Amino acid sequence: LYSEPIPKCYIGVGNNPELIESILTSAGYERQTERTDDFKLKWVQCNSSVNWNVFKDGEQLVNHIQGEDYFTTKIQLWQSLQSYEKITLAANRRPNYFLPLNEFVPETYKLDEKNDRDAFFNIHKPGDVWICKPSGLNQGKGIYLVRDIDNLKSKFAEIDAMDKKKQVALKPMKRVIQRYIMNPLLVHGKKFDIRCFMLVSSVKPLIALYHKGYLRLSMFDFDANDGNLLTHLTNQYMQKKDPKYYDLKEDTSWTMEQFNDYINEHILPNKNIEKDWVLNVLPKIIQRIMLNIIDSIRMRLKRRVGCFGLYGYDFMIDEEMKVWLIEVNVNPALATNTNTLLQAIPPVVQESILLSIECFEKIRHNQRIFPLRSIKGFR
Ligand code: ADP
Ligand code: MG
Ligand code: MG
Ligand code: MG
Repeated sequence: LYSEPIPKCYIGVGNNPELIESILTSAGYERQTERTDDFKLKWVQCNSSVNWNVFKDGEQLVNHIQGEDYFTTKIQLWQSLQSYEKITLAANRRPNYFLPLNEFVPETYKLDEKNDRDAFFNIHKPGDVWICKPSGLNQGKGIYLVRDIDNLKSKFAEIDAMDKKKQVALKPMKRVIQRYIMNPLLVHGKKFDIRCFMLVSSVKPLIALYHKGYLRLSMFDFDANDGNLLTHLTNQYMQKKDPKYYDLKEDTSWTMEQFNDYINEHILPNKNIEKDWVLNVLPKIIQRIMLNIIDSIRMRLKRRVGCFGLYGYDFMIDEEMKVWLIEVNVNPALATNTNTLLQAIPPVVQESILLSIECFEKIRHNQRIFPLRSIKGFR
């Protein structure tokens, strides 16, 4: 005779709230527009919009995990991975799937403090090309290529000459500098990266789902020396800056099946890779990298029942078919403005939300939450 009240959800503005609403409505939720703390599920872009002090563990769901910054801002990701590598070496505790950092992340340096910068300037060799990125921004904003190190040196000399107050004011522009991948694998002459997804649930055991994602391509033929930033940054947001986008947008995203066909036809004959490499081998490489990342921040995630996170990973592949991690994003773009995105995005989001709710309800009712389609090795 007790019926549960209709669960309410609060959905923040931006990043395709219509999609979230349609998924939650079909799961029996009702969207509330008031911004109260009285919700069953909250979906917002930014973890700073969550009031953790009043969040009720085991009663509410939210699409963020406390501590996610440790792997979703560029500086912290790099630091987490570096310290994980050190600690596991010292303690002789590396799992069999451990990967040395230099095998999957392009060499990276912090630039926010003078000694970090000096370390970087010391290893730089003439002819090296770097990509300089603000740690906390996205969509390619604030990124530039560095070919002329003297120019960068003088920029930072200016900062070092400023008084402390002004330097502190620049803090939000914390930066990393990363070795630029000069030999990306190209499709039809274009540079691309892979956007794929990982769902993390903060409950014990840490549950994760992997989604193969899609390809993001530049509209311009790749030339390492091209001065046009849109040749080098494959973010949709960047591509949109060129009016050509409106004619070519369908070419700026590919499904993994499309990519697989391309590799089978054009790359397989000249490379020592197996057939259907994209569908069968690449996911294993990516999942292994994801496992290493999760292990590096596992202890730093605050596991509260009801918290889950859908993260977007950027990967690149070079001419040697080596897979490189570029970064991890909180609040991955959910826009569905191309046919590929329309095919790729809604199922990922739907599966992530429904699975998170299902696990949550099972935990509340003391039911076992396995077996799930978790990545082997995730605990
Ligand atoms: P953002 O958070 O702005 O998306 P990313 O680190 O993902 O920052 O960089 C944006 C784009 O720049 C990537 O999608 C990729 O196309 C390109 N890029 C980033 N890092 C590298 C790199 N080390 N080598 C080559 N290209 C890179
Ligand atoms: Mg990003
Ligand atoms: Mg990115
Ligand atoms: Mg980021």
